[in-house]
Amino acid sequence: MKFADLGLSDQLLQSVIDAGYDEPTPIQAQAIPSVLMMRDIIGIAQTGTGKTAGFVLPMIDILAHGRRRALMPRSLILEPTRELAAQVAENFEKYGKNHDLRMALLIGGVQMGDQVKALSDGVDVLIATPGRLMDLFERGKILLTGCELLVIDEADRMLDMGFIPDIETICSKLPTTRQTLLFSATMPPPIKKLADRFLSNPKYIEVARPASANINIAQFKLRVPARAKRDALRQILRKDDVTTAIIFANRKTTVRDLAKSLKQSGFSAGEIHGDMDQSARNAELQRFKDGQINILCASDVAARGLDIKGVSHVINFDTPWHPDDYIHRIGRTGRGGATGQAFTLVSDEDAEAIANVEKLTGMAIPEITLATGEGDAEAPPRERAVRKRGKDAEREAPRPARKAEPRAEPVAAEPKPAVRRTEPKPAPAERRERQPAVVAPRQPQVEPADALGAWNGPIPGFLHVSALSEAA
Ligand code: AMP
Repeated sequence: MKFADLGLSDQLLQSVIDAGYDEPTPIQAQAIPSVLMMRDIIGIAQTGTGKTAGFVLPMIDILAHGRRRALMPRSLILEPTRELAAQVAENFEKYGKNHDLRMALLIGGVQMGDQVKALSDGVDVLIATPGRLMDLFERGKILLTGCELLVIDEADRMLDMGFIPDIETICSKLPTTRQTLLFSATMPPPIKKLADRFLSNPKYIEVARPASANINIAQFKLRVPARAKRDALRQILRKDDVTTAIIFANRKTTVRDLAKSLKQSGFSAGEIHGDMDQSARNAELQRFKDGQINILCASDVAARGLDIKGVSHVINFDTPWHPDDYIHRIGRTGRGGATGQAFTLVSDEDAEAIANVEKLTGMAIPEITLATGEGDAEAPPRERAVRKRGKDAEREAPRPARKAEPRAEPVAAEPKPAVRRTEPKPAPAERRERQPAVVAPRQPQVEPADALGAWNGPIPGFLHVSALSEAA
């Protein structure tokens, strides 16, 4: 299948070529022709499958015909978080550069005045988080009666974040003749109900989960006592061929503590979580993308769906409470044909969570162990020196407030050989490359993205109305 076979315009095909894509992904191949034929769609697809271009590309061609009207967006894309909304906006800028389309991004934490101005000038595409959209709607600043195309993206995430009532309200304000595209990684009953109520004769498309189908991600789990997790993490970061890593933890406090302790150990680490305001999150993300730091400690909601290329490793310091989050997390690596490794640290507290993950993915994650002190023994001299400084610094640093966090013990307490897999036996060369880690907590963490602090940083161009093809 080629992009040229999907019915897209020549202008759009040029943008796709410029983006460097050779072939449509399965979700694109199945969704694009149907969207162009004005069908409603239910797309069961994760981030990482190319689903964003699956709806952005046909939308651009559909919206190429028609006129903008003040306060009445022609299409609406609902996203659960600001970061995802901004990412979709970037996709519109990238693929829509040869079209005369205007878009506005409506997200919390940004001055409302600019957004209202954009809307009053008229937009073809409105990308919004439900909270801010409802806010503007209730103030009478927006009319949804001219909105002929609706995308509900990451519907199961919207459910987790309590946005379904808002989405139902929004859906009921749009014309019943609209086209609706709903994307979700899973189809829990409330999403099914939503689809039954608001979609009309939808085409159902399901693509393989990246986690279960993506053979580019090597997954491992490592059983360690909770108190040994930090040491295990450091060993993985030192021993393995880590170029860039995202480390996930279940609690914001853990994310913060981890970033601090890794920095004290000499690692180039940053953090992204829901207690940070938007500008701080953006700045940290940019540092990671620019390579100023190569380790990013993250919470699930803050990192949801972020398209960060070339992440070599994902490490689950905690096994996620929701098994779906495991798939979201490890999907940050092994993207676009690149290979990646995902390690999950499993303590006793994580036992139930990891069992749920394995049940969901239908596979037993290969288990490996780490040997004590080996990381330093194998490290090149220069690196060892840096680490030693890091360790000294850690010793000198004040203990974190959470006294309950005991000093990490060497993973050596566990059965030892260098890096040993208890399941399939790798070739020696492969063995060197592949190692794991573990962790787990309990109550779900909710970070309502729209309830976070104000956006203080520079406002990207696409936050205002963007004339996508002014240059064209
Ligand atoms: P998404 O699932 O929309 O978050 O996309 C995941 C990644 O796949 C993004 O980095 C896209 O730029 C990339 N991508 C989208 N479509 C294609 C394609 N046809 N070929 C290769 N990469 C793609």
